[in-house]
Amino acid sequence: MTSIDWAKVRADFPILAQQVNGKPLLYLDNAASSQKPRAVISALVNYYERDNANVHRGLHELSSRATDAFEGARAKVARYLGAESAEEIIFTRGTTEGINLVAATWGAANLKAGDVILLTEMEHHSNLVPWQILAEKTGAKLCFVPVADDGALAFEPALLDGVKLFAFVHVSNSLGTINPAADLCRAARAVGAVTLVDGAQSAGHMPVNVREIGCDFYAFSGHKICAPTGIGALYGRRELLEKMPPWHGGGEMIVSVTYERATYKQPPHKFEAGTPNIAGAVGLGAAIDYIEGIGRQNIFDHDAGLTARAVQHLAEIPGVRVLGPAKRGALAAFHAEWAHPHDLTTFANEHGLALRGGHHCTQPLMRKLKMPGTTRASFYFYNTADEVDRMAEILRAAHRFFA
Ligand code: PMP
Repeated sequence: MTSIDWAKVRADFPILAQQVNGKPLLYLDNAASSQKPRAVISALVNYYERDNANVHRGLHELSSRATDAFEGARAKVARYLGAESAEEIIFTRGTTEGINLVAATWGAANLKAGDVILLTEMEHHSNLVPWQILAEKTGAKLCFVPVADDGALAFEPALLDGVKLFAFVHVSNSLGTINPAADLCRAARAVGAVTLVDGAQSAGHMPVNVREIGCDFYAFSGHKICAPTGIGALYGRRELLEKMPPWHGGGEMIVSVTYERATYKQPPHKFEAGTPNIAGAVGLGAAIDYIEGIGRQNIFDHDAGLTARAVQHLAEIPGVRVLGPAKRGALAAFHAEWAHPHDLTTFANEHGLALRGGHHCTQPLMRKLKMPGTTRASFYFYNTADEVDRMAEILRAAHRFFA
């Protein structure tokens, strides 16, 4: 039993108290982006009303306040992920940028023709396309851990033969599968492979500790964990970051510059050229405080209850098949044989219900599953059991309408 007052938590999210198409908004598209509590919105307003200035280079009061707020947020991210120090945290625009950074820097410096990059068949395009681009440039080869019929990974250590980098999603945004990140990283380490975990769907939904996982890189997006869009973070193990070449060049990342060349700062600043998203980082820090106030295990348990309830409802609707394994993250993606996902999500929207229909940025997986796409309901801690029941009611009405 937890002592969280979930109704009070929900009241922290002003956006949820509105009508859409004459019905109370039922927001179940949290895997795409989460809503923001007042604490995060206020942190942004306060920052812009009191502290706004550029960071790191001003010797005036506002600049040092902005710098403290920005670097304070970095320290919060480090604690949140269980990193050894704030120097291991690079601010990015989100998961996609974090993965691209690793591909463009670590990848370009360490991979050559014939090297193997191991991915899985359930990767989001953002953990696939950057490696395709890198493979094209270096001649490295992409291999894939298959997805079994139940939606789990069919991993075996032999797949790691000759692998230099193993990049995989922690929680699948298409299937809900929770991959055994620590086991996968342990196996990779045993063959000397570097690991990257796509944490887009895990960072805000469960306790995450990069040292317990044992990964070399972990990327996530702020907007999926109650923070603003345009901010995220990449964790990188210090030893690797120190050896990696920079990515973008410009201000903030240099020690000294001549017309011919430049010397670079230590990580993380080496990887943060130009004026960063200061307000976004402040918002991310506020989101982390907010989430830690509730507790990530409490969030996981709450979401798991909602998801199990949704899966049970869905299984009772004729012609509906839920994808993915029983043990899942906070989402239920399903195929309804009587309606295309786009028609179904349009129907849902007319009832105030926000679902997502489509390929969920996993086109190769959809092709493998022989589906044009799926419909996905995804949950967060401000959703309620009543909302899950209302979703089921709307989907039963959709069945009557389409079938
Ligand atoms: N990976 C996964 C598993 C995701 O769900 C998403 C977002 N849908 C991303 C990566 C990309 O995140 P972003 O667009 O915030 O960079």
